[in-house]
Amino acid sequence: MAETIFDKIINKEIPADIVYEDDMALAFKDINPQAPTHLLIIPKTQIATINDVSTDNAHLVGHLYVVAAKIAKEQGFADDGYRVVMNCNEHGGQTVYHIHLHLLAGKPLGWPPYTETLKV
Ligand code: AMP
Repeated sequence: MAETIFDKIINKEIPADIVYEDDMALAFKDINPQAPTHLLIIPKTQIATINDVSTDNAHLVGHLYVVAAKIAKEQGFADDGYRVVMNCNEHGGQTVYHIHLHLLAGKPLGWPPYTETLKV
């Protein structure tokens, strides 16, 4: 599987503003924040896209949510609320092919994200 920029962050070959780390996951600030708090939570094992999630690695994906909830409590926005998003492939807006949860918080977030009129 092709290495991504997130492998370099995991291996500390390039800097990142890391806010959480354990054996399975790493969380760091997004370089181009879309909310007052915008973190990326990634598994240390590369899984390219959601399409590559299986029963063999589902525990790693579940762990990303455990980390999200832990950070939300620690940083004090668990009760106000937040959003976690995982993009998949081109239509989903994925640009880095190492799955990651976007954790967005710090203000009320708009919904739905797709506002053009749907043609059915
Ligand atoms: P996605 O478009 O869902 O694949 O999200 C990739 C995210 O990675 C984007 O929000 C980028 O701003 C972010 N990103 C890319 N390179 C870095 C980096 N070196 N450090 C932190 N965030 C990054």
